[in-house]
Amino acid sequence: MTIRNAQFGSVFVVSAPSGAGKHAILHQVIDLDPNLEYCISATTRLPRPGEIDGKDYYFMDRTEFMHRVEADEFVEWAQVHGRLYGTLRSELTRRLTSGKDVILELDVQGMRNFTAGRKDTVTVFVTAPSLDVLEERLRTRGANSEDDLALRLHNARAEIAAKDSFDYVIVNDKLEEAVADLQAIIRARRLGIGN
Ligand code: 5GP
Repeated sequence: MTIRNAQFGSVFVVSAPSGAGKHAILHQVIDLDPNLEYCISATTRLPRPGEIDGKDYYFMDRTEFMHRVEADEFVEWAQVHGRLYGTLRSELTRRLTSGKDVILELDVQGMRNFTAGRKDTVTVFVTAPSLDVLEERLRTRGANSEDDLALRLHNARAEIAAKDSFDYVIVNDKLEEAVADLQAIIRARRLGIGN
């Protein structure tokens, strides 16, 4: 049984280098938990095959993105792998005020910007067992050019070096164990006093 005494939901920030398998973990955890929602980000990167606008991301060009930055529509935004990504305030607020807990998928800069001055956020870093495994997973995904792959691997090293600034670290070796780990973190948060 989960006791929920919160009027507003909690925010879980999940960061991971590309290829750590974060999406697979998040999909399973969210599918199994009716009180948890994924907050859809905006990005200037192009959709990958199969990605849908309004489901995976809000895809927009740089002009529209910067217009929204100027209108203060983002709670945080950052340049990641040469593209802009950001969390729309409207998307986050709508979910939290309906009492749902929310997962934000942010890069490390985004995590830092978002959590600065807020104590109500749980931060989780997901990583692969090694850089070799990460590279193999990125190559298997096949949707990245060699240049993009090299950039993502370079950025992965920097992100992994920042893992100690998170509340929790999950090593995604076996998917079902990583899913159980994230569920345990969420459950612990919900059982905490005053949450
Ligand atoms: P991808 O291009 O593979 O979908 O996402 C690349 C990375 O962008 C993700 O791993 C995540 O770290 C970051 N990202 C996605 N959405 C956001 C966002 O709203 N804000 C920030 N700061 N980073 C994001």
